[in-house]
Amino acid sequence: MKKLYNFFDLGLSNEILEVIKQKGFEKPSPIQALTIPLLLKNEKDIIGQAQTGTGKTAAFGLPIIENTEKNGITQVLVLAPTRELAIQVAEEMMSLRTNREIGILPVYGGQPIEGQLRRLKRGVEIVVGTPGRILDHLKRGTLKIDQLSYMVLDEADEMLNMGFIEDIEKILSQTNKDKRMLLFSATMPLRIIKLARNFMSEYEEIKVSPKRLTVDLTDQIYFEVNSSDKFEALCRIIDIEKEFYALIFCRTKLKAQHLGNALSDRGYDAAALHGDISQNQRERILDQFKKKRIRILAATDVAARGIDIQELTHVLNYSIPQDPDSYVHRIGRTGRAGKRGTAITFITPSEYRKLMHIQRTANAEIRKEKIPKVKQLISMKRKRIIEEISEIIEMKTFDDNLQVAYELLGDHKPDEIIAALLTHAYKDDFSPEKYAKIRDVKAPSENNSPDLKGTTRLFIALGNKDNISKRKLADMIKKETMIDSHLIQDIKVYDNFSFANVPFAEAEQIIKAFRRMGRDNKPLVVKAKPEEKKGKTNFSRSKRKRR
Ligand code: ADP
Ligand code: MG
Repeated sequence: MKKLYNFFDLGLSNEILEVIKQKGFEKPSPIQALTIPLLLKNEKDIIGQAQTGTGKTAAFGLPIIENTEKNGITQVLVLAPTRELAIQVAEEMMSLRTNREIGILPVYGGQPIEGQLRRLKRGVEIVVGTPGRILDHLKRGTLKIDQLSYMVLDEADEMLNMGFIEDIEKILSQTNKDKRMLLFSATMPLRIIKLARNFMSEYEEIKVSPKRLTVDLTDQIYFEVNSSDKFEALCRIIDIEKEFYALIFCRTKLKAQHLGNALSDRGYDAAALHGDISQNQRERILDQFKKKRIRILAATDVAARGIDIQELTHVLNYSIPQDPDSYVHRIGRTGRAGKRGTAITFITPSEYRKLMHIQRTANAEIRKEKIPKVKQLISMKRKRIIEEISEIIEMKTFDDNLQVAYELLGDHKPDEIIAALLTHAYKDDFSPEKYAKIRDVKAPSENNSPDLKGTTRLFIALGNKDNISKRKLADMIKKETMIDSHLIQDIKVYDNFSFANVPFAEAEQIIKAFRRMGRDNKPLVVKAKPEEKKGKTNFSRSKRKRR
């Protein structure tokens, strides 16, 4: 596709171009450059994926306004998930409507319906509303949507998450078939694709590949940690931070629940949020979280979707997100509204490649950090206590405790009194036993060449003599273990044996799977010995020479 850089190239009328100039838009955003010509030209439906703040409203708003007549008939219906978004979209569209005085009306719950009724009666060309209130009007017969030219589902993923699917279906059933459907969404989960298949005709998919989607105010770090040590690592991270007001993303409802429980048991103000918790209770938990009575929320992606809290200090991926989109979406929860935030991702050694994929695709900078050592933690806590006590002394907020102090001073030495008080107050905090041991992750990735990062080199007792090739070897491993062939790297086949690199976890799996398939009581696959690892380069060199 030809790259379009200028509003003039998109096929918009002079009238609209003038409005764009007045708005101060200099260049179309990528989603605008791609969507506007399609909307002006062909008749296909459109699915557009782009992050928030990329100008999606003007992307559909400009061509829609271009093609809307002032005739008192509702020709455009835009559905948005929340009242704020409905207002926002309506306002943005009003600012684009030129001096043609097309009627644009936001329609949402919580606003007296009379005003809406009056406006609708006079005739409104473009209605922007939340599904619930739109349905109300349809039931009352105060809104007709059987002559639509366009129907837009804005923030479609959010609407599905909020449980609007049935409302949307009801609304759709009252529309005329020959309208054009546009669907915009920040992410494209399967449910959205299904929705599109069910309700849209032939459609074009527009995806704006993220350039730098992640916010610069968010510091992104990752920790390499074995699965079984994740909880301990998390506790240490919480303890070393001065403030930890965070969402923790878990892969499953069960995991979120367990983590919420475990954190509460350990004494943190924590809770879990997921789909198996009743709507009522979820609202209560969210409310507590907003008031900071709960400071750590272990949640599934879906449950955390509607949460918009600007002060979060951290977002933590307890398990690595499934894809770059989801990563971007999750970490967008911190570093909001000009506030700094930290996004933390836990990876197990075998997930290193996945993280690199996310980093590349999301064009994010994710730096590696080490889990704080117990010693570090304890000295940090001591430092903090000294700060806090100094502050109390400065402010002289002693209540009646000076009396106790004089009594104690009558009988003991001051330094011993203070030490005893600290033991009394903070005993548990200073004891290293509070923290469990965290195993080192094998073969720290930075010490190895890039292709060896997080992997084990395997020795396989099959070679050219056994009629084995790289392909066959990878296929064989895949067949026996279901391990994806792209995880099997750097295969070298020699006459009597071969080598391959695989991530740690997969290595164990492969060794196990092939344990019983050896010759002469020798296992077929073992970890390569260090000298064989070194030998790798020697082998290949001598091989090259021979050629
Ligand atoms: P989205 O729906 O993708 O989250 P919006 O449509 O709400 O984004 O637009 C976000 C902001 O960017 C709005 O204030 C809008 O006026 C502005 N904007 C949109 N397109 C452009 C553009 N081409 N140049 C500059 N600003 C733009
Ligand atoms: Mg929008």
